[in-house]
Amino acid sequence: MKLHITAAIIVSITLLMSCSDDSLEQNTNSQINTLETTEKLANLGFDTHTIAPKWNEEGVTVEGDIFLATESLQQITSNAKQRYRTVVFCNTVNQVKIFNTVPNTKIRKALTAAIRRWNAIPNVRVNFIEVNNEGDARDGVLVKDKNLSEIFAESEFARSGIPGRAIFVDIKATDSRINNNKRLTQAQWTNVLTHQLGHIIGFAHNNEREFTFIPNTANDKNSVMDSDPIKHAKTAKFSRKDIIAIKALYGTGNNAKCK
Ligand SMILES: [Zn+2]
Repeated sequence: MKLHITAAIIVSITLLMSCSDDSLEQNTNSQINTLETTEKLANLGFDTHTIAPKWNEEGVTVEGDIFLATESLQQITSNAKQRYRTVVFCNTVNQVKIFNTVPNTKIRKALTAAIRRWNAIPNVRVNFIEVNNEGDARDGVLVKDKNLSEIFAESEFARSGIPGRAIFVDIKATDSRINNNKRLTQAQWTNVLTHQLGHIIGFAHNNEREFTFIPNTANDKNSVMDSDPIKHAKTAKFSRKDIIAIKALYGTGNNAKCK
């Protein structure tokens, strides 16, 4: 209770001071938005307790590796908790261009392998296209190196029918559980990037129980969209239920959700 009283006093002082100071007023507003948005994220089915959302000037990272831009959060109006957040348009998911800016052989090979894996799924519209210069990926995805603590990669989530714009990888990332604190192996990076491409086109983590699942895809320990994507690096493939989920959204049939 003491803490609450202290907090209330600080807020009051801040509010008083903000009358004469624009920057303080802005700070107060952004704190209120943070609280509101955390509630919104929880309403959307994201786990905001196990891993706390991380904020920066552009948006928020939830569940460790899913980035939502502020603008995209403002566009979300429904509170439906589902395994996917938005479905990318059929004719956009058909040609998602990717440019890799990371000059690292392991990442380059892993990206190519992950793209090949997605593109090889039969009877779906998903098609990632690796391009050789940034200009060709103007409306596509950039893969960039970034210092990330404790995670291997992070992606911008698909928004309003459009794929996420960036995948960040930490080329120095290690795995302490399987690799004795050594850097990720080639197979692990391929799985991480396969997983990140899933976020780019709107798939959430399938082991978050709060979501309503696409029919017949719940309880899938082998999914590439498990929040621990390197667990199955050795068997490295989409699960049977992954394929059901991908077809439900992006299959070539008329009943797919992409429009
Ligand atoms: Zn993830």
